[in-house]
Amino acid sequence: MRIVVCVKTNYDLQMVRVKGREPVLEALPYKVGDLEKNALEAALQLREGGLECTIVALTVAEANAKVKETMKEALALAADEAVVVNDPALAATDQAALAAAIAKAIEHTGGADLVLFGEGSTDNYSGLVGSRVAELLGLPQIGYARSIAVADGAVTVERSMDDMIETLQAPLPAAVTVVSEINEPRVATLMNIMKAGKKPLTELSLADLGLDAGAAAPQKAVLSNLAEEQDRKHIIIEGDAATAAAGLVDALVKEGVLGR
Ligand SMILES: Cc1cc2nc3c(=O)[nH]c(=O)nc-3n(C[C@H](O)[C@H](O)[C@H](O)COP(=O)(O)OP(=O)(O)OC[C@H]3O[C@@H](n4cnc5c(N)ncnc54)[C@H](O)[C@@H]3O)c2cc1C
Repeated sequence: MRIVVCVKTNYDLQMVRVKGREPVLEALPYKVGDLEKNALEAALQLREGGLECTIVALTVAEANAKVKETMKEALALAADEAVVVNDPALAATDQAALAAAIAKAIEHTGGADLVLFGEGSTDNYSGLVGSRVAELLGLPQIGYARSIAVADGAVTVERSMDDMIETLQAPLPAAVTVVSEINEPRVATLMNIMKAGKKPLTELSLADLGLDAGAAAPQKAVLSNLAEEQDRKHIIIEGDAATAAAGLVDALVKEGVLGR
């Protein structure tokens, strides 16, 4: 059985600095998205539970050496092989075009019995890609998975809803998007990090998938992506140290920060 885990390589958001209201993205390292780590771990746990499977980590991104390097993290965490669709035309794509490339790449590289996604990516979190790929491949899709079991040609998923837990089953092949409650992703061991460099990694362009650059053209544009403006009060407390300290306490009590 073939499990394809779709992995978005994100900027490491812990490392982002904000200059004015704009994030500074130059020289930022990349990492495997958080929920994608859960999806990789879910695939690994299915195998550890006795399911015979090959785990393939697949990413679609603009041509960028950091993306390929980051996929070694997916190989060290769980995947047996990686597929990197790498094309300059994907630098400013959108979820629709991206999903079309993922669907083609899955078909091109041997198909999938189970396709796993994060419920949303770590940065954009639109939560669109999983459903779009499922639709394009004609697969049943189950979202918000907090547990996954595979048996007798079907996937059984418990999914987290606001006020209940629903159990659903779909015949394979199927697509499932996972939430963080599904597991605690393990940290790659040094041995697995070293082995990752030797695992197969296939690079494909859009042309290899029979798509032209126009296929990556977005149908929508991000006009701006700014941090929220903070409305600060700028209270200045005048006077000597004792008066200023008393004034500060009064101000904090008024704001409800300190009780009296
Ligand atoms: C490195 C990089 C740079 C980009 N730069 C720009 C840019 O500058 N301007 C622009 O308009 N667009 C850019 N894009 C494309 C845009 O961010 C895509 O729309 C995005 O990859 C998918 O949308 P989302 O993050 O909301 O995914 P969601 O729908 O929230 O993701 C859900 C799940 O889908 C899967 N998934 C999502 N993205 C990918 C992926 N790329 N490959 C494999 N699986 C995936 C993951 O499992 C993820 O957990 C970039 C994409 C990448 C990867």
